[in-house]
Amino acid sequence: MIHLGGGEPQSKTPLDAIISFTGLLNSGDIRYTPVDGTIEMKQAIIRYTEDFYDRKVEPENVIASNGAKQSIMVALQAILNPQDEVIFPAPYWVSYPEMVKLCGAVPVPVYSEDGSFYPRMQDILQNVTSYTKAIILNSPNNPTGALYSEDFIADVVSFCEEEGLYLIMDDLYQRLVFDGKRAPNVYKFVKELNENSKILVVNGVSKQYAMTGFRIGWAVGNKKLIQVMSNIQGHQTAGPAVLLQKAAIGAINGVQSGVESLRSTLENNRNVMLDQLSAFDGVKATKPDGTFYVFADFRHYDKNSTRLAKLLLDKVRVLTMPGIEFGLDGYLRLSTCGSIKGIIEGIERIKWVLDPNSPNELFIGERKLVRDWL
Ligand code: PMP
Repeated sequence: MIHLGGGEPQSKTPLDAIISFTGLLNSGDIRYTPVDGTIEMKQAIIRYTEDFYDRKVEPENVIASNGAKQSIMVALQAILNPQDEVIFPAPYWVSYPEMVKLCGAVPVPVYSEDGSFYPRMQDILQNVTSYTKAIILNSPNNPTGALYSEDFIADVVSFCEEEGLYLIMDDLYQRLVFDGKRAPNVYKFVKELNENSKILVVNGVSKQYAMTGFRIGWAVGNKKLIQVMSNIQGHQTAGPAVLLQKAAIGAINGVQSGVESLRSTLENNRNVMLDQLSAFDGVKATKPDGTFYVFADFRHYDKNSTRLAKLLLDKVRVLTMPGIEFGLDGYLRLSTCGSIKGIIEGIERIKWVLDPNSPNELFIGERKLVRDWL
């Protein structure tokens, strides 16, 4: 089995996170925390915000949640009324439409008119109605790896400010960017940064520190919004587990070299994946600017991505994610989180299944496979 489906880096938990976690565990003093996170957790987030956004915030501007997922969910629950609409570029992270629907509101995915993964402001504007309440941007993007330009983000910020819309910046992959690029800092484009700002910035430890299992994410926003989000979270799950917060604090305040090493590994893996795909005539892949996904166009072989992903799993045991889950059929999301060997062999196996010029037989270890389906 080759796993090109995954959404989590394979590197180990940072040592500072483990030390911080086990230190508290050994004390045996494991209690409830405030519903919006411990003060130490908030201080780590405040420092992170200063380091990466050049912005000083107060503890009341910060909430720590059970993953960035919960921060986004409670934010939507805090701001949405039934029938409100939430705009986000497509392809999109699978949970946005479902989270919006859980609030009784309406998801509005926006497809770029030019078919690219880089939406333009006019694509967004065409989807704005009197019900529009919020825009979510995820850059670099899951599943495309696209990093939105400064101009685009500046336009979205000023539009949201003029219209009084919320802007949720899902910056989870912010530090996993390639080719010497940098993710734009949303606050740079805000005219007057004050307590009325409706910008909410979401981050977490899952991707940058490879700590998906720790389930710690956070959001930074205006105090009133954070208060309402905290009220909801308090009744939903209460504060995130104190040990997991301790581990996240360890990672954020600890040695950061693991993030750069992950970033450069992922950049290299992306290059290998693109190389492999370029030898594959029927597949088109846009070069991702970041993250650990390549969202590749397989329409030449099958316009139905669920069927295609199932074929690849059944025939050669390669797991991929069907594009339809992200709002674009005929594409597959291929993860670059695994080993170079896995990436090369995975794409070779996919090519063997789909390319009619492939040899008739393929060996996976001792097993001989024979092409009998094309
Ligand atoms: N946003 C995006 C774009 C993601 O890809 C993910 C995780 N797959 C999340 C949010 C949620 O991350 P967390 O593990 O912090 O809940």
